[in-house]
Amino acid sequence: MGRTLQLHRFSMTMEVGVSLERAIELSAQLPLVREEETIPLIRASGRTLFEDLRSMVDDPRFDNSAMDGWAVREADCEEDGTKLRIVGTSQAGSESIPTVDVGEACRIMTGAPVPPGADAIVMVEDSSVSGDRVTINGLARPDFIRWKGENLTQGTVALRSGTVLTPASVSLAATMGHAKIRVVRKPSIAVIGVGDELTPPGEPLSENSIYESNTFGISSLVEKMGGKSMSLGLISDSMDRLRETLDEAAASCDAIITSGGVSMGEWDMVRRIMEEEGDVRFWKVMIRPGGPPLFGSWRGKPIFGLPGNPVSSHIVFTVLVAPWISSSMGSEEGSRPGLAKRVRVEMEEPLKGAPGKLCMRRISIRQMGDKLLGSTRTHQGSGNIHSMVAHNGLSLLPPDSDCHEGDTIDALWLI
Ligand code: AMP
Ligand code: MG
Repeated sequence: MGRTLQLHRFSMTMEVGVSLERAIELSAQLPLVREEETIPLIRASGRTLFEDLRSMVDDPRFDNSAMDGWAVREADCEEDGTKLRIVGTSQAGSESIPTVDVGEACRIMTGAPVPPGADAIVMVEDSSVSGDRVTINGLARPDFIRWKGENLTQGTVALRSGTVLTPASVSLAATMGHAKIRVVRKPSIAVIGVGDELTPPGEPLSENSIYESNTFGISSLVEKMGGKSMSLGLISDSMDRLRETLDEAAASCDAIITSGGVSMGEWDMVRRIMEEEGDVRFWKVMIRPGGPPLFGSWRGKPIFGLPGNPVSSHIVFTVLVAPWISSSMGSEEGSRPGLAKRVRVEMEEPLKGAPGKLCMRRISIRQMGDKLLGSTRTHQGSGNIHSMVAHNGLSLLPPDSDCHEGDTIDALWLI
């Protein structure tokens, strides 16, 4: 019978053993689809803006007082103890405002319009009233007036497309007059755990099986990044089950993340099936922990194959998948999670680096005076997820470099 001599599908495009920066670059070539939906502003915190948001109004809308006190003419108040005639009151929201002429003052509340003729405010604490006169005992200050448009003018873009909305930006959007806004639709990301030994927590463990944890961690990370995680469960190390599940994921989700099965072993099914039937853009990144991740597409959908070791999958997500989601959703480079958010830390203990690889040991970072100090607390093994909980940072030790006590290193502060 004739043989089929198939060209290795990925040998044409796949890069093996890339730097983390190159992995970020290659994955950005295959982004998530960026689609929009319109939602009420009150639901917008944490969502990503789909479009630039312009102000519909000037902010402030009119000249108004920053203090409770008196609207006056500055020139009238040069002498301490000046007496001015009270012409009325300007309250926040009031419609008719008196004019202030020479020798006159108008009572004014914080946020109320500055009456025509007035050009300065005297604080209420610096005045005393007797009948229809007010005596001015302090400074008349033009800088207690909040001038029309001094924060924003109508039409200004104050929030850019790709911004992740904080509570303060939601408040700003309301100030600008927006009741509904266009945000990036949450990408749905399938999460699949692969391994014969895995049992969901809550179910009885058979001999040599372990509780599965990665799909929980990865799903939580997806949600934290503004995505919708779709757990497609656990599958055994079987090519047929894996193919079926990947097909289901590709048909129903925007992207796929698997955990486990991407190393060199014969049972590393994700690597095998991607090699034989998928499109692999890179395999293996020069990092420790988390060396064997894989990226490419399955039936047209981007797929990350993360390593099975719980710390590895968590770290690869943090430094590779999170910035990919963020850039896919339109964020600017400097505001993405991952390497862009590095700090400098003085280590209180030595750290072992890794030959040829960027080394991300778990470290605890704390502020001491004007320095950030780093230390380690638990065993660093890539299977020890407790090390991610007991620490709040990752070292970024350059390849081939050990860190000595007292050295200053780059690190990620995971707060
Ligand atoms: P693998 O990448 O499949 O060779 O798995 C590497 C290590 O990670 C093994 O010790 C697995 O038992 C463990 N592992 C793989 N997947 C998971 C998972 N979903 N949850 C917890 N541990 C896992
Ligand atoms: Mg496995």
